[in-house]
Amino acid sequence: MIKKHREIPLRVQILRAMKRRVCPNHEKYEEILSELGIKEAGIYGEQALDYYLKLLPETETPYYIFYDLRLPYRDSHFQIDTLILFSNFYLLLEVKYLRGLIHFDPKNHQLIQEVESKPLKALQDPILQVSNQCYKLEARVKLKNLPIAPFEKLVVLTNPKAIVKVLSSPSIVEKHVIKSPALSGKVAPLIRKHSNSHYDKKTLIKISKLLIKDHTPLHSSPTGKYKVFPPDILTGVLCPDCKPNVVMQRIHGKWKCPDCLLISADAHIQALIDYALLINTEITMSELKRFLRIDNNHIIRVLIRNMKLKGIGNTKSRTYNLTPLLPKT
Ligand SMILES: [Zn+2]
Repeated sequence: MIKKHREIPLRVQILRAMKRRVCPNHEKYEEILSELGIKEAGIYGEQALDYYLKLLPETETPYYIFYDLRLPYRDSHFQIDTLILFSNFYLLLEVKYLRGLIHFDPKNHQLIQEVESKPLKALQDPILQVSNQCYKLEARVKLKNLPIAPFEKLVVLTNPKAIVKVLSSPSIVEKHVIKSPALSGKVAPLIRKHSNSHYDKKTLIKISKLLIKDHTPLHSSPTGKYKVFPPDILTGVLCPDCKPNVVMQRIHGKWKCPDCLLISADAHIQALIDYALLINTEITMSELKRFLRIDNNHIIRVLIRNMKLKGIGNTKSRTYNLTPLLPKT
């Protein structure tokens, strides 16, 4: 049973909004695209694992799956891609979607990626990453005075085209690294190995609730890192179909794309989500007019009413809260 579903992290939503709204001539535009590419590959990789998670063996006491948990550890946090909580052990999965030739080198705590003619890239050792997560999660379980259960870890490579090479410690790589189709076959012996049940259903539910309560989404905005300021952000309601961006026009109570002629009744919602992600989660009447490129107070009021935006303050300095439009993270 999935106890915590996967969400699109806020940072990815902001990077996507920057891709749409920042001018490609901006000095950091390439870096924005590069970070977004890495993050989207990660999301894609995790989604690619879903099919294989459904094939896991059934167990007497049902197990719980948690995606993208971010938990406190001392004065910082750590993240677990996928946690499966069995009644007899914890299984942590570090999910990687990597292209090319992947050299595992656990002895030197590194992973080397070789993609076509590009220079070699040293990446963090995912076996070490997932080992650290186990250590931190175990500390967290102890801190909460919960009975302890064994921890198991796997690195799952989700790109079927990736080629694995082993540079050191082959037994460690063999034990902990798999490609996604091997998941079920690897988990079955772990279930047999840990035959003692440590948690009854009641305790499993208690741990689940604690994990979900302790989950702390990352709310750092990359706009500061990339020096993206409000004047750098393209205004207007953008056509969802045209790339690069085309600003739609308001005609007869709808939005119309001058290029592909698409008609939309609610394309302004995405524009205001972008505003909330990149500029501010509160917006004034004059900012609404500027950002949506509408000069008519009546039209703006109709839009506000239809979106059920809540106003704060008196008429002159009233701001509207855009948070309800944002996807949940
Ligand atoms: Zn269009």
